Amino acid sequence: MSGPAEILGEMLATSERALAFTGAGISTESGIPDFRGPNGVWTKFDPNEFNFQNYVADPDHRRRVWKMRLESWDTQYEPNDGHRALADLERLGIIDCVVTQNIDRLHQAAGSTVVLELHGNAREVVCLSCGARQPASAAHDRVRAGEDDPACLLCGGILKSATISFGQPMPEDIVEEAFYRARQCDLCLVVGSSLVVYPAAGVPLEAKHAGARLVILNQSETEMDGLADLVINEPAGAVLSEAARIAARLRAR
Ligand code: NAD
Repeated sequence: MSGPAEILGEMLATSERALAFTGAGISTESGIPDFRGPNGVWTKFDPNEFNFQNYVADPDHRRRVWKMRLESWDTQYEPNDGHRALADLERLGIIDCVVTQNIDRLHQAAGSTVVLELHGNAREVVCLSCGARQPASAAHDRVRAGEDDPACLLCGGILKSATISFGQPMPEDIVEEAFYRARQCDLCLVVGSSLVVYPAAGVPLEAKHAGARLVILNQSETEMDGLADLVINEPAGAVLSEAARIAARLRAR
């Protein structure tokens, strides 16, 4: 009898245009905690505090955020088997793009070249007034040197990590492209997302409604499981690498 990785491998091998939709769960095997898993960030911090409105309005909150970011900045994270398998599937011509909610850039580090970041990335900072961007490392150097809330050097505006916080508008062009590609794909593979953050979670829904097969690979149940053609409740890395190997073998025939 076929196991879930075999079934997924066969589904991938017959796909002409697959879309991977990833969340924090694909990066937990790299050591980065998710938000809503059993050891997630929201078991330690109050999600209501970390929103865009507080960041803009409250300098004390910004100081706390810069301090926290600096504390985690020095830890280097590496892509894991799950990220590498998705990059392999792109090279095989199976995966058309990765739409990610993650801000860690590990898909790109693993070799994926078409990555749509719905929630921005943590490697850059952006000025909320003039829009200027710069590497986050430059802002962190200033915090290390004693500035607790560094302002934009060009216009004096508020600097913020180039990530999208709760309550902050999403990048329209990227969201539009993600939904467009969702309508074009024939297989949507969700990996490591609780599928509760919208509008991002609308991407797999859009794919399913447009006729794609839907696979959910997530350690815990999601509200969309009932819509899925295949649900796998296992750690993502091993399943994805096995499925990618099987898909490569079947494609080579
Ligand atoms: P989430 O925390 O809401 O859900 C993660 C899901 O992944 C959980 O359901 C959990 O059961 C599952 N999971 C954990 N480890 C897994 C594994 N090894 N294999 C398979 N499944 C696993 O995450 P979300 O849906 O991405 O939404 C949260 C928001 O958090 C996103 O907007 C994202 O921007 C942000 N975030 C990003 C990172 C990152 O960049 N790595 C980390 C934390 C949060």
